[in-house]
Amino acid sequence: MKFDLRTSESAKLPFHTVASLKERLAWLINLRWLSIMALLFCVPVADKMFGFKIGFDEITNIAVILLAINILYFFIARHFPFKNEYQELAFLELQILTDLLIISFVIHYSGGIGNPFYFLYMVQVILSGIIFPGKALPYFNAIAAALLLTIWTMLEHLIMVDRYLLRDEPATLALIITSLIAFYIINFAGLYIINNFMNGYRSLKSIIDQKNVQLEKAIKDRNRTFRFAAHELKSPMIAIQSTLDVVKSLFSSDLRPEVKEMVFKAERRSSQVIDMVKEMITVTQYNLGMEKPVFENIDLDEWLFSIVSHHKAYANNKNLELIFNHLSITLNVTVDTNGFEKVVSNLVSNALRYTPSGGKVIVEPFVSDHSYGLIVKDSGIGIPKEDIEKIFEEFYRSKNAREAEQIGTGLGLNLVKEIVHHYKGEISVKSEIGKGSEFKVEFLLEENQNSFEQFDESKQSVLL
Ligand code: ADP
Repeated sequence: MKFDLRTSESAKLPFHTVASLKERLAWLINLRWLSIMALLFCVPVADKMFGFKIGFDEITNIAVILLAINILYFFIARHFPFKNEYQELAFLELQILTDLLIISFVIHYSGGIGNPFYFLYMVQVILSGIIFPGKALPYFNAIAAALLLTIWTMLEHLIMVDRYLLRDEPATLALIITSLIAFYIINFAGLYIINNFMNGYRSLKSIIDQKNVQLEKAIKDRNRTFRFAAHELKSPMIAIQSTLDVVKSLFSSDLRPEVKEMVFKAERRSSQVIDMVKEMITVTQYNLGMEKPVFENIDLDEWLFSIVSHHKAYANNKNLELIFNHLSITLNVTVDTNGFEKVVSNLVSNALRYTPSGGKVIVEPFVSDHSYGLIVKDSGIGIPKEDIEKIFEEFYRSKNAREAEQIGTGLGLNLVKEIVHHYKGEISVKSEIGKGSEFKVEFLLEENQNSFEQFDESKQSVLL
Protein backbone atom coordinates (compact mmCIF):
# COMPACT_ATOMS: atom_id res chain seq x y z
CA MET A 1 0.00 0.00 0.00
CA LYS A 2 1.41 3.35 -0.98
CA PHE A 3 0.77 6.43 1.08
CA ASP A 4 0.66 9.71 -0.61
CA LEU A 5 0.50 12.99 1.18
CA ARG A 6 -2.09 14.09 -1.35
CA THR A 7 -4.59 11.35 -0.44
CA SER A 8 -6.84 11.15 2.57
CA GLU A 9 -4.91 7.96 3.49
CA SER A 10 -2.23 10.18 5.03
CA ALA A 11 -4.72 11.63 7.51
CA LYS A 12 -4.91 8.26 9.25
CA LEU A 13 -1.22 8.31 10.01
CA PRO A 14 0.51 10.76 12.29
CA PHE A 15 3.39 11.29 9.92
CA HIS A 16 3.03 13.34 6.89
CA THR A 17 6.03 11.99 5.10
CA VAL A 18 8.18 8.89 5.27
CA ALA A 19 11.06 11.25 6.01
CA SER A 20 9.45 12.54 9.20
CA LEU A 21 8.84 8.95 10.33
CA LYS A 22 12.49 8.13 9.77
CA GLU A 23 13.37 11.25 11.74
CA ARG A 24 11.41 9.92 14.72
CA LEU A 25 13.13 6.54 14.46
CA ALA A 26 16.50 8.24 14.58
CA TRP A 27 15.33 10.45 17.43
CA LEU A 28 14.32 7.45 19.57
CA ILE A 29 17.65 5.73 18.91
CA ASN A 30 19.59 8.88 19.79
CA LEU A 31 17.59 9.28 22.98
CA ARG A 32 18.60 5.74 23.89
CA TRP A 33 22.33 6.50 23.39
CA LEU A 34 21.88 9.28 25.93
CA SER A 35 20.09 7.01 28.41
CA ILE A 36 22.85 4.40 28.11
CA MET A 37 25.50 7.03 28.79
CA ALA A 38 23.47 8.36 31.72
CA LEU A 39 23.14 4.82 33.16
CA LEU A 40 26.81 4.00 32.73
CA PHE A 41 27.80 7.32 34.30
CA CYS A 42 25.22 7.53 37.10
CA VAL A 43 25.56 3.97 38.42
CA PRO A 44 29.21 4.22 39.61
CA VAL A 45 28.66 7.82 40.81
CA ALA A 46 25.60 6.79 42.86
CA ASP A 47 27.52 3.76 44.13
CA LYS A 48 30.45 5.91 45.33
CA MET A 49 28.45 8.87 46.63
CA PHE A 50 25.45 7.32 48.32
CA GLY A 51 26.46 3.75 49.04
CA PHE A 52 22.98 2.43 48.14
CA LYS A 53 22.57 -1.31 48.39
CA ILE A 54 21.15 -1.76 44.95
CA GLY A 55 22.08 -3.99 42.00
CA PHE A 56 24.83 -1.87 40.48
CA ASP A 57 26.36 -4.78 38.57
CA GLU A 58 22.97 -5.84 37.21
CA ILE A 59 22.21 -2.27 36.11
CA THR A 60 25.59 -2.02 34.38
CA ASN A 61 24.83 -5.31 32.60
CA ILE A 62 21.45 -3.94 31.52
CA ALA A 63 23.16 -0.82 30.12
CA VAL A 64 25.47 -3.07 28.11
CA ILE A 65 22.52 -5.15 26.83
CA LEU A 66 20.70 -1.91 25.92
CA LEU A 67 23.82 -0.77 24.07
CA ALA A 68 23.84 -3.99 22.02
CA ILE A 69 20.09 -3.68 21.30
CA ASN A 70 20.49 -0.06 20.27
CA ILE A 71 23.35 -0.88 17.90
CA LEU A 72 21.06 -3.49 16.33
CA TYR A 73 18.20 -0.95 16.04
CA PHE A 74 20.60 1.57 14.57
CA PHE A 75 21.63 -0.83 11.80
CA ILE A 76 18.06 -1.93 11.12
CA ALA A 77 16.91 1.69 10.85
CA ARG A 78 19.82 2.49 8.53
CA HIS A 79 19.87 -0.53 6.29
CA PHE A 80 16.52 -2.29 6.46
CA PRO A 81 14.28 -1.23 3.58
CA PHE A 82 10.90 -0.81 5.28
CA LYS A 83 8.17 -1.58 2.77
CA ASN A 84 5.61 0.84 4.17
CA GLU A 85 4.83 3.13 7.09
CA TYR A 86 3.13 0.34 9.03
CA GLN A 87 6.37 -1.66 9.16
CA GLU A 88 8.15 1.37 10.51
CA LEU A 89 5.41 1.93 13.08
CA ALA A 90 5.70 -1.74 14.17
CA PHE A 91 9.46 -1.23 14.55
CA LEU A 92 8.82 1.85 16.73
CA GLU A 93 6.33 -0.10 18.89
CA LEU A 94 8.87 -2.90 19.34
CA GLN A 95 11.37 -0.32 20.57
CA ILE A 96 8.91 1.25 23.01
CA LEU A 97 8.01 -2.17 24.45
CA THR A 98 11.64 -3.26 24.85
CA ASP A 99 12.39 0.07 26.49
CA LEU A 100 9.53 -0.41 28.93
CA LEU A 101 10.83 -3.87 29.77
CA ILE A 102 14.39 -2.58 30.25
CA ILE A 103 13.13 0.28 32.43
CA SER A 104 11.20 -2.21 34.56
CA PHE A 105 14.42 -4.16 35.20
CA VAL A 106 16.41 -1.00 35.98
CA ILE A 107 13.72 0.18 38.42
CA HIS A 108 13.58 -3.26 40.02
CA TYR A 109 17.38 -3.38 40.54
CA SER A 110 17.45 0.18 41.82
CA GLY A 111 14.87 -0.01 44.58
CA GLY A 112 11.51 -0.75 42.91
CA ILE A 113 8.62 1.49 43.86
CA GLY A 114 10.78 2.95 46.64
CA ASN A 115 12.87 4.66 43.94
CA PRO A 116 11.18 7.88 42.77
CA PHE A 117 12.67 7.26 39.32
CA TYR A 118 9.89 4.71 38.70
CA PHE A 119 8.20 7.62 36.91
CA LEU A 120 10.67 6.89 34.08
CA TYR A 121 7.99 4.53 32.73
CA MET A 122 6.02 7.62 31.84
CA VAL A 123 8.70 8.87 29.46
CA GLN A 124 7.91 5.94 27.14
CA VAL A 125 4.18 6.48 27.53
CA ILE A 126 4.48 10.16 26.62
CA LEU A 127 6.79 9.30 23.70
CA SER A 128 4.26 6.85 22.31
CA GLY A 129 1.54 9.51 22.73
CA ILE A 130 3.64 11.77 20.53
CA ILE A 131 4.68 9.17 17.99
CA PHE A 132 1.65 6.96 17.36
CA PRO A 133 -1.59 7.79 15.59
CA GLY A 134 -4.98 7.42 17.28
CA LYS A 135 -5.43 6.12 20.80
CA ALA A 136 -4.93 2.33 20.66
CA LEU A 137 -1.14 2.02 20.76
CA PRO A 138 -0.47 4.87 23.24
CA TYR A 139 -3.08 3.49 25.68
CA PHE A 140 -1.80 -0.06 25.14
CA ASN A 141 1.68 1.18 26.11
CA ALA A 142 0.28 3.07 29.12
CA ILE A 143 -1.43 -0.15 30.32
CA ALA A 144 1.80 -2.12 29.69
CA ALA A 145 3.73 0.41 31.82
CA ALA A 146 1.14 0.26 34.64
CA LEU A 147 1.10 -3.58 34.52
CA LEU A 148 4.90 -3.89 34.58
CA LEU A 149 5.18 -1.56 37.58
CA THR A 150 2.34 -3.32 39.41
CA ILE A 151 3.67 -6.85 38.71
CA TRP A 152 7.25 -6.05 39.77
CA THR A 153 5.96 -4.24 42.89
CA MET A 154 3.78 -7.21 43.86
CA LEU A 155 6.61 -9.70 43.23
CA GLU A 156 8.99 -7.57 45.33
CA HIS A 157 6.42 -7.05 48.08
CA LEU A 158 5.64 -10.77 48.28
CA ILE A 159 9.41 -11.44 48.13
CA MET A 160 8.95 -13.66 45.11
CA VAL A 161 12.03 -11.95 43.63
CA ASP A 162 15.17 -10.49 45.28
CA ARG A 163 14.55 -7.10 46.83
CA TYR A 164 16.91 -4.15 46.25
CA LEU A 165 16.18 -1.34 48.67
CA LEU A 166 17.12 2.31 48.45
CA ARG A 167 16.09 2.82 52.06
CA ASP A 168 16.67 0.51 55.01
CA GLU A 169 12.98 -0.32 55.38
CA PRO A 170 10.84 -1.75 52.58
CA ALA A 171 7.79 0.30 51.60
CA THR A 172 4.60 -0.48 53.51
CA LEU A 173 1.53 -1.80 51.67
CA ALA A 174 -0.23 1.55 52.24
CA LEU A 175 2.68 3.44 50.67
CA ILE A 176 2.83 0.97 47.79
CA ILE A 177 -0.90 1.37 47.05
CA THR A 178 -0.68 5.18 47.28
CA SER A 179 2.38 5.24 44.99
CA LEU A 180 0.72 2.95 42.45
CA ILE A 181 -2.49 5.02 42.42
CA ALA A 182 -0.45 8.21 41.98
CA PHE A 183 1.35 6.56 39.06
CA TYR A 184 -1.89 5.37 37.40
CA ILE A 185 -3.46 8.84 37.67
CA ILE A 186 -0.45 10.71 36.31
CA ASN A 187 0.26 8.04 33.68
CA PHE A 188 -3.24 8.05 32.16
CA ALA A 189 -4.03 11.73 32.71
CA GLY A 190 -0.67 12.70 31.16
CA LEU A 191 -1.30 10.46 28.19
CA TYR A 192 -4.86 11.78 27.79
CA ILE A 193 -3.58 15.37 27.60
CA ILE A 194 -0.69 14.64 25.22
CA ASN A 195 -2.81 12.36 23.03
CA ASN A 196 -5.59 14.95 22.68
CA PHE A 197 -3.06 17.64 21.89
CA MET A 198 -1.26 15.50 19.29
CA ASN A 199 -4.51 14.39 17.62
CA GLY A 200 -5.64 18.02 17.37
CA TYR A 201 -2.25 18.97 15.97
CA ARG A 202 -2.36 16.11 13.45
CA SER A 203 -5.80 16.96 12.11
CA LEU A 204 -4.79 20.62 11.86
CA LYS A 205 -1.63 19.63 10.00
CA SER A 206 -3.57 17.38 7.66
CA ILE A 207 -6.06 20.21 6.92
CA ILE A 208 -3.14 22.54 6.17
CA ASP A 209 -1.54 19.89 3.94
CA GLN A 210 -4.78 19.37 2.03
CA LYS A 211 -5.31 23.11 1.63
CA ASN A 212 -1.74 23.45 0.41
CA VAL A 213 -2.32 20.77 -2.19
CA GLN A 214 -5.54 22.51 -3.29
CA LEU A 215 -3.72 25.82 -3.46
CA GLU A 216 -0.93 24.37 -5.57
CA LYS A 217 -3.50 22.82 -7.90
CA ALA A 218 -5.37 26.13 -8.18
CA ILE A 219 -2.14 27.95 -9.04
CA LYS A 220 -1.31 25.31 -11.65
CA ASP A 221 -4.82 25.52 -13.14
CA ARG A 222 -4.58 29.29 -13.27
CA ASN A 223 -1.20 29.08 -14.99
CA ARG A 224 -2.58 26.58 -17.52
CA THR A 225 -5.59 28.77 -18.32
CA PHE A 226 -3.36 31.77 -18.58
CA ARG A 227 -0.96 29.98 -20.89
CA PHE A 228 -3.83 28.70 -23.05
CA ALA A 229 -5.29 32.21 -23.35
CA ALA A 230 -1.88 33.66 -24.24
CA HIS A 231 -1.34 31.00 -26.91
CA GLU A 232 -4.79 31.67 -28.37
CA LEU A 233 -4.02 35.40 -28.50
CA LYS A 234 -0.63 35.01 -30.09
CA SER A 235 -1.64 33.77 -33.58
CA PRO A 236 -4.38 36.37 -34.29
CA MET A 237 -2.08 39.12 -32.98
CA ILE A 238 0.71 38.00 -35.30
CA ALA A 239 -1.81 37.87 -38.17
CA ILE A 240 -2.95 41.45 -37.39
CA GLN A 241 0.64 42.63 -37.26
CA SER A 242 1.53 40.97 -40.58
CA THR A 243 -1.55 42.53 -42.23
CA LEU A 244 -0.57 45.95 -40.92
CA ASP A 245 2.96 45.32 -42.16
CA VAL A 246 1.64 44.57 -45.65
CA VAL A 247 -0.58 47.67 -45.61
CA LYS A 248 2.40 49.75 -44.47
CA SER A 249 4.81 48.50 -47.10
CA LEU A 250 2.42 48.21 -50.11
CA PHE A 251 -0.05 51.05 -49.64
CA SER A 252 1.90 53.49 -47.48
CA SER A 253 2.21 56.05 -50.30
CA ASP A 254 -1.55 55.87 -51.13
CA LEU A 255 -2.68 56.53 -47.58
CA ARG A 256 -3.72 59.88 -46.21
CA PRO A 257 -1.14 61.04 -43.58
CA GLU A 258 -3.57 60.65 -40.65
CA VAL A 259 -4.52 57.10 -41.80
CA LYS A 260 -0.84 56.28 -42.26
CA GLU A 261 -0.15 57.51 -38.73
CA MET A 262 -3.00 55.32 -37.42
CA VAL A 263 -1.60 52.26 -39.22
CA PHE A 264 1.85 52.91 -37.79
CA LYS A 265 0.41 53.35 -34.30
CA ALA A 266 -1.66 50.15 -34.61
CA GLU A 267 1.43 48.27 -35.77
CA ARG A 268 3.47 49.52 -32.79
CA ARG A 269 0.70 48.65 -30.38
CA SER A 270 0.22 45.17 -31.84
CA SER A 271 3.93 44.48 -31.57
CA GLN A 272 3.79 45.53 -27.89
CA VAL A 273 0.83 43.21 -27.32
CA ILE A 274 2.75 40.37 -28.99
CA ASP A 275 5.70 41.01 -26.63
CA MET A 276 3.31 40.95 -23.71
CA VAL A 277 1.71 37.71 -24.87
CA LYS A 278 5.17 36.15 -25.31
CA GLU A 279 6.07 37.22 -21.77
CA MET A 280 2.87 35.66 -20.44
CA ILE A 281 3.74 32.41 -22.19
CA THR A 282 7.31 32.44 -20.85
CA VAL A 283 6.22 33.15 -17.28
CA THR A 284 3.49 30.51 -17.24
CA GLN A 285 5.76 27.95 -18.90
CA TYR A 286 8.39 28.58 -16.25
CA ASN A 287 5.86 28.40 -13.40
CA LEU A 288 4.46 25.14 -14.74
CA GLY A 289 7.96 23.67 -14.70
CA MET A 290 7.92 23.27 -18.48
CA GLU A 291 11.21 25.06 -18.92
CA LYS A 292 14.20 23.00 -17.95
CA PRO A 293 17.35 24.62 -16.60
CA VAL A 294 20.29 24.64 -18.98
CA PHE A 295 23.53 24.63 -17.00
CA GLU A 296 26.50 26.07 -18.84
CA ASN A 297 29.91 27.32 -17.90
CA ILE A 298 30.03 30.88 -19.16
CA ASP A 299 32.41 33.79 -19.25
CA LEU A 300 30.15 36.11 -17.24
CA ASP A 301 31.20 39.33 -18.93
CA GLU A 302 31.08 38.01 -22.48
CA TRP A 303 27.76 36.23 -21.98
CA LEU A 304 26.07 39.24 -20.33
CA PHE A 305 27.36 41.50 -23.09
CA SER A 306 25.78 39.32 -25.76
CA ILE A 307 22.41 39.23 -23.93
CA VAL A 308 22.40 43.00 -23.38
CA SER A 309 23.30 43.56 -27.06
CA HIS A 310 19.94 42.09 -28.06
CA HIS A 311 18.33 45.24 -26.63
CA LYS A 312 20.46 47.60 -28.71
CA ALA A 313 17.88 48.12 -31.49
CA TYR A 314 15.13 49.00 -28.99
CA ALA A 315 17.44 51.45 -27.18
CA ASN A 316 18.48 53.14 -30.44
CA ASN A 317 14.86 53.43 -31.63
CA LYS A 318 13.90 55.10 -28.39
CA ASN A 319 17.00 57.32 -28.44
CA LEU A 320 18.41 55.89 -25.23
CA GLU A 321 22.07 55.39 -24.34
CA LEU A 322 22.63 51.72 -23.49
CA ILE A 323 26.04 51.38 -21.82
CA PHE A 324 27.79 48.15 -20.83
CA ASN A 325 30.57 48.49 -18.24
CA HIS A 326 32.85 45.53 -18.86
CA LEU A 327 34.43 43.61 -15.96
CA SER A 328 38.15 44.17 -15.63
CA ILE A 329 38.60 40.48 -14.91
CA THR A 330 37.42 37.30 -16.59
CA LEU A 331 35.16 35.13 -14.49
CA ASN A 332 33.82 31.76 -15.50
CA VAL A 333 30.73 30.54 -13.68
CA THR A 334 28.31 27.68 -14.15
CA VAL A 335 24.77 29.04 -14.37
CA ASP A 336 21.35 28.06 -15.67
CA THR A 337 21.62 30.22 -18.79
CA ASN A 338 17.93 29.76 -19.56
CA GLY A 339 16.88 31.24 -16.20
CA PHE A 340 19.67 33.82 -16.03
CA GLU A 341 18.83 35.15 -19.49
CA LYS A 342 15.24 35.78 -18.35
CA VAL A 343 16.55 37.71 -15.33
CA VAL A 344 18.90 39.89 -17.35
CA SER A 345 16.49 40.50 -20.24
CA ASN A 346 13.63 41.46 -17.94
CA LEU A 347 15.73 43.93 -15.97
CA VAL A 348 17.29 45.54 -19.05
CA SER A 349 14.01 45.74 -20.95
CA ASN A 350 12.26 47.28 -17.90
CA ALA A 351 15.05 49.85 -17.56
CA LEU A 352 14.68 50.76 -21.25
CA ARG A 353 10.88 50.82 -21.15
CA TYR A 354 10.67 52.98 -18.06
CA THR A 355 13.29 55.52 -19.15
CA PRO A 356 12.09 58.42 -21.33
CA SER A 357 13.90 59.23 -24.61
CA GLY A 358 17.29 60.85 -24.18
CA GLY A 359 17.93 58.87 -20.99
CA LYS A 360 20.60 56.37 -20.07
CA VAL A 361 20.70 52.70 -19.05
CA ILE A 362 23.91 51.22 -17.64
CA VAL A 363 24.50 47.48 -17.21
CA GLU A 364 27.39 46.54 -14.98
CA PRO A 365 28.52 43.02 -14.06
CA PHE A 366 30.45 42.74 -10.79
CA VAL A 367 32.53 40.19 -8.90
CA SER A 368 33.58 40.22 -5.25
CA ASP A 369 35.40 37.62 -3.13
CA HIS A 370 32.25 35.64 -2.46
CA SER A 371 29.70 36.78 -5.00
CA TYR A 372 29.00 37.89 -8.53
CA GLY A 373 26.09 39.44 -10.35
CA LEU A 374 24.94 42.50 -12.21
CA ILE A 375 23.59 45.97 -11.65
CA VAL A 376 21.11 47.58 -14.05
CA LYS A 377 20.85 51.36 -13.58
CA ASP A 378 18.57 53.73 -15.43
CA SER A 379 17.77 57.42 -15.42
CA GLY A 380 14.06 56.71 -15.81
CA ILE A 381 10.78 57.44 -14.08
CA GLY A 382 11.74 55.72 -10.80
CA ILE A 383 9.55 53.72 -8.45
CA PRO A 384 7.40 55.25 -5.71
CA LYS A 385 8.86 54.37 -2.27
CA GLU A 386 5.68 52.62 -1.13
CA ASP A 387 5.76 50.37 -4.22
CA ILE A 388 9.34 49.08 -3.93
CA GLU A 389 8.26 45.84 -2.22
CA LYS A 390 5.07 45.43 -4.23
CA ILE A 391 6.66 45.48 -7.69
CA PHE A 392 7.81 41.88 -7.18
CA GLU A 393 4.23 40.70 -6.68
CA GLU A 394 2.39 39.17 -9.63
CA PHE A 395 0.49 41.69 -11.79
CA TYR A 396 1.57 44.71 -9.72
CA ARG A 397 2.32 47.81 -11.75
CA SER A 398 3.01 51.26 -10.26
CA LYS A 399 0.75 54.13 -11.26
CA ASN A 400 3.60 56.07 -12.87
CA ALA A 401 4.65 52.96 -14.84
CA ARG A 402 1.09 52.45 -16.13
CA GLU A 403 1.02 56.08 -17.24
CA ALA A 404 4.42 55.87 -18.96
CA GLU A 405 3.93 52.42 -20.54
CA GLN A 406 0.37 51.31 -21.06
CA ILE A 407 1.42 47.83 -22.12
CA GLY A 408 2.75 45.60 -19.37
CA THR A 409 1.85 42.46 -17.47
CA GLY A 410 3.37 43.00 -14.05
CA LEU A 411 4.71 39.46 -14.32
CA GLY A 412 8.34 39.99 -15.29
CA LEU A 413 9.79 41.00 -11.92
CA ASN A 414 7.89 38.25 -10.15
CA LEU A 415 9.54 35.72 -12.45
CA VAL A 416 12.94 37.41 -11.96
CA LYS A 417 12.58 37.15 -8.17
CA GLU A 418 11.51 33.48 -8.40
CA ILE A 419 14.51 32.56 -10.53
CA VAL A 420 17.01 34.54 -8.42
CA HIS A 421 15.70 33.01 -5.17
CA HIS A 422 15.62 29.55 -6.74
CA TYR A 423 19.38 29.82 -7.20
CA LYS A 424 19.80 31.24 -3.67
CA GLY A 425 20.55 34.71 -4.99
CA GLU A 426 19.40 38.13 -3.81
CA ILE A 427 17.72 40.95 -5.68
CA SER A 428 17.59 44.51 -4.36
CA VAL A 429 16.30 47.83 -5.67
CA LYS A 430 17.20 51.45 -5.06
CA SER A 431 15.06 54.05 -6.72
CA GLU A 432 14.13 57.69 -6.61
CA ILE A 433 11.04 58.95 -8.31
CA GLY A 434 11.87 61.00 -11.42
CA LYS A 435 15.60 60.24 -11.14
CA GLY A 436 15.93 56.55 -11.92
CA SER A 437 16.26 53.04 -10.53
CA GLU A 438 19.00 50.56 -9.79
CA PHE A 439 18.40 46.79 -9.66
CA LYS A 440 21.13 44.58 -8.22
CA VAL A 441 21.18 40.80 -8.62
CA GLU A 442 23.77 38.89 -6.60
CA PHE A 443 24.67 35.19 -6.47
CA LEU A 444 27.07 33.39 -4.19
CA LEU A 445 30.31 32.34 -5.80
CA GLU A 446 30.56 28.66 -4.96
CA GLU A 447 33.88 26.91 -5.05
CA ASN A 448 32.59 24.00 -7.09
CA GLN A 449 31.49 26.43 -9.77
CA ASN A 450 34.95 26.12 -11.21
CA SER A 451 35.46 29.84 -11.38
CA PHE A 452 38.75 31.43 -12.19
CA GLU A 453 39.81 34.98 -12.59
CA GLN A 454 42.46 36.69 -14.56
CA PHE A 455 43.24 40.31 -15.16
CA ASP A 456 42.20 41.76 -18.48
CA GLU A 457 43.14 45.42 -19.00
CA SER A 458 41.52 45.71 -22.41
CA LYS A 459 37.92 45.70 -21.16
CA GLN A 460 36.07 48.94 -20.36
CA SER A 461 32.81 50.81 -20.80
CA VAL A 462 31.04 50.31 -24.13
CA LEU A 463 28.13 52.25 -25.62
CA LEU A 464 25.99 49.79 -27.51
P1 ADP B 1 5.75 45.19 -16.34
O1 ADP B 1 7.00 45.91 -16.65
O2 ADP B 1 5.25 44.36 -17.45
O3 ADP B 1 4.70 46.09 -15.76
P2 ADP B 1 7.33 43.91 -14.30
O4 ADP B 1 6.96 42.80 -13.39
O5 ADP B 1 8.52 43.74 -15.13
O6 ADP B 1 6.04 44.15 -15.19
O7 ADP B 1 7.51 45.19 -13.41
C1 ADP B 1 6.56 45.47 -12.38
C2 ADP B 1 6.52 46.95 -12.08
O8 ADP B 1 7.76 47.36 -11.50
C3 ADP B 1 6.38 47.83 -13.28
O9 ADP B 1 5.06 47.91 -13.71
C4 ADP B 1 6.90 49.13 -12.75
O10 ADP B 1 5.93 49.75 -11.93
C5 ADP B 1 8.03 48.70 -11.84
N1 ADP B 1 9.34 48.75 -12.50
C6 ADP B 1 10.10 47.70 -12.86
N2 ADP B 1 11.27 48.11 -13.39
C7 ADP B 1 11.26 49.45 -13.34
C8 ADP B 1 12.20 50.46 -13.71
N3 ADP B 1 13.38 50.16 -14.23
N4 ADP B 1 11.85 51.74 -13.51
C9 ADP B 1 10.66 52.06 -12.95
N5 ADP B 1 9.73 51.15 -12.58
C10 ADP B 1 10.03 49.85 -12.77
